[in-house]
Amino acid sequence: MSYRILVIEDNPVNMELVTDLLEAAGFSVYPAATGEQGLCAAESIVPHLILMDLSLPGLDGLATTRALRSNPATSHLPIIALTAHAMKGDEEIALSAGCNGYLTKPIDTRTFVTRINAYLTDANEPQFS
Ligand code: MN
Repeated sequence: MSYRILVIEDNPVNMELVTDLLEAAGFSVYPAATGEQGLCAAESIVPHLILMDLSLPGLDGLATTRALRSNPATSHLPIIALTAHAMKGDEEIALSAGCNGYLTKPIDTRTFVTRINAYLTDANEPQFS
């Protein structure tokens, strides 16, 4: 079984880069170009991890994250924000919207898969005490 990763990203160049890196590492990638598509895909695919571009047309990444968190079918899914706004404070905003972590764009192709693997490992550790 390979991990299913839902990538919600409106920029085709970024989508292609992320998809190539993840597929080369053996992940199954499910693309969504809008937040609205991402919400539908999250419910039907039930991915192991969601990569969420924060800057999306229409429903933006923060609003999409909040919508995922408020739906019992998707509220537990790990979400990693992808943000080009490498500004102080963005991490807090992403985390307070419900993201589990964030990666800045441009993506560091040398460390990207390692970081995704670390998030997957964290997300799949038993949460019960
Ligand atoms: Mn974008």
